[in-house]
Amino acid sequence: MTFQAPKGTFDWMPPRSEWALTVRDALSAPARRAGYGYIETPAFEDTALFSRGVGESTDIVTKEMYTFTSRGGQSLTLRPEGTASVVRAVLEHGLYGGPLPIKLWYSGSYFRYERAQAGRYRHFSQVGAEALGSEDPALDAELIVLAMDGYASLGLRGVRLLLNSLGCRECRPAYRAALQDFLRGLDLDEATRARVEINPLRVLDDKRPEVRAQLTGAPLVTDHLCGACKAYHEEVRGLLTAAGVAYEDDPRLVRGLDYYTRTTFEFLHDGLGAQSAVGGGGRYDGLSEQIGGPALPSVGWALGVDRTVLAMEAEGLLTERPRALGAFAVPLGEEARRRIFPLVSELRRAGLAVDMAFGGRGVKGAMKAADRSGARYALILGDRDIEAGAVQVKDLATGDQTAVPLAEVVEFLKGKDS
Ligand code: AMP
Repeated sequence: MTFQAPKGTFDWMPPRSEWALTVRDALSAPARRAGYGYIETPAFEDTALFSRGVGESTDIVTKEMYTFTSRGGQSLTLRPEGTASVVRAVLEHGLYGGPLPIKLWYSGSYFRYERAQAGRYRHFSQVGAEALGSEDPALDAELIVLAMDGYASLGLRGVRLLLNSLGCRECRPAYRAALQDFLRGLDLDEATRARVEINPLRVLDDKRPEVRAQLTGAPLVTDHLCGACKAYHEEVRGLLTAAGVAYEDDPRLVRGLDYYTRTTFEFLHDGLGAQSAVGGGGRYDGLSEQIGGPALPSVGWALGVDRTVLAMEAEGLLTERPRALGAFAVPLGEEARRRIFPLVSELRRAGLAVDMAFGGRGVKGAMKAADRSGARYALILGDRDIEAGAVQVKDLATGDQTAVPLAEVVEFLKGKDS
């Protein structure tokens, strides 16, 4: 019997897997530089955290959670997103009593029972950042700028930013009612009519053409914002412009999680087909209270690592080999292996990326392995070299070869390592 990765999952394998690491690093670096501390929470939580936090009527909670009963009889769920866990941890550790905002970033695996397709998986990876406990438009703008800087640092040029405001608990109810009035007059199937009653904003996000066609005259949230929300949104937009970040206003952007208030945004890439969102986020001023905490106005985002690698591929950015080896050692015979092994260890301790041929293959096989490794140099050691106390350093691109005394190899390679 053989096994395969479960449907909707896949393995990151070398050399491509290096890009997943590169992306995780690049997307988190701007937040780390901006004072966000690292948080790591469990991969599973009490099921009620997500049903209450993410929202009972969302797709995530109604049909996408991996929920199981523990041996102790507790209902647990593999995390479908990161924000609810972060808020839970902040409340549990009482951080809201200290200096605000609390800035945190994280990275890890998330699980949703999705209809698997290109760019949409049941196990995927995100980098997230959250700023909790402060209602300041500069914080919303900061997070958006940090995400855009992360994408830009990877060389991505095609990331677009969609921006909206969903209002607050003062103005959203009236908008919700106006939207419901409009939607009740449309020709919709039963499931969608039910959604109009429970979560009408989500209907705006319906992708089916027959529904979309009827939504053209729908009331827009931006026309129903209260004065405070309007001013807040204007401030966010002004700060983005001042920081040189272009955005597109999208009054229909609602996003799939119930906890959003005011600022919402999404990062899109047009090279990805249907699953074009490479990241998204927004403000969630009510989430803490929803899960039993004090008022803790907050804002955050989650960026998809897998889709960001796909976006880089679409822009032709995966060509250069990431983190290539500096050298590949080729011992010719057993005595040579014994001599070259400590040299390889020494080179690695000196910070050089070095591999060697294993398995006692002949010269031809070992040189092929050296070529395939992508290393810049082969370090070849034969009996005559042992006698001479030197190693042949062969430039694999040009074929040039020089004998370098064993005691000088570290210095020699370090000199070339620029
Ligand atoms: P969300 O938590 O739904 O706002 O997702 C944030 C980002 O995570 C999205 O923009 C995607 O890039 C990524 N993402 C969400 N769900 C999936 C999935 N099922 N497969 C791959 N990436 C995903």
